[in-house]
Amino acid sequence: MADVFSRSKRSEVMAAVRSRGNQATELRLITILRAAGLTGWRRQQPLPGRPDFIFRHARVAVFVDGCFWHGCPLHGRRPATRKAFWDRKLDRNAARDREVNRLLRRRGWRVVRIWEHALKAAPRVAARLRAALRAGPLRGGVYQVRTR
Ligand SMILES: [Zn+2]
Repeated sequence: MADVFSRSKRSEVMAAVRSRGNQATELRLITILRAAGLTGWRRQQPLPGRPDFIFRHARVAVFVDGCFWHGCPLHGRRPATRKAFWDRKLDRNAARDREVNRLLRRRGWRVVRIWEHALKAAPRVAARLRAALRAGPLRGGVYQVRTR
């Protein structure tokens, strides 16, 4: 499908989508957390990848990933124009997500990534978070936290 926007207009549009999208999805997750009675979360903590939410005691880091920017298998369709540009950018985003997961796990954080589209299924999101919170910090294996 041909892009309806010019190159520069497309960049502008996508930049706006990103900033607005993040805020809207984070607010939606806050609503889900409150409705589910999940408390004790914090935001904007200085951790790798700047998780959208963290539960410090359970060491659970939560990200809400936009379907476009993070390459959701259902909705992460890449623009047909400026293919090289978008491939490079979106591949880099995916690589960064993997690296952030690795860094957090190495520090003992359990990483929960929620697709933007999954926020429509509030009960499922709440159940997944509850399970992660019950499971608590990662232990053993490659994700073991080292003391020195
Ligand atoms: Zn999606």
